[in-house]
Amino acid sequence: MTTTVWLSPSATAFSCVCEPCLERARRSGVLFADALSVASVRGAVAPEAAVTVVRCAGGHEIVLRRVERPRPLARHSEGQLQIA
Ligand SMILES: [Zn+2]
Repeated sequence: MTTTVWLSPSATAFSCVCEPCLERARRSGVLFADALSVASVRGAVAPEAAVTVVRCAGGHEIVLRRVERPRPLARHSEGQLQIA
């Protein structure tokens, strides 16, 4: 069970919750707020990286994927630059 996090095209940092850690903490009966803080993972991500794999404190893989930038328009036309 791998956690996948989607990043915006300009993101340089991430913050997420490791689902296996959250599940394990939840099953151990701790308060939900404590489970969340145990499972939370945050860090920096290179702006040019499309996919980055990080690990939580418990060693689970977390895949950070950057959503694709919108495709540039294939052809520019004068009409697109006009402000109505
Ligand atoms: Zn984990």
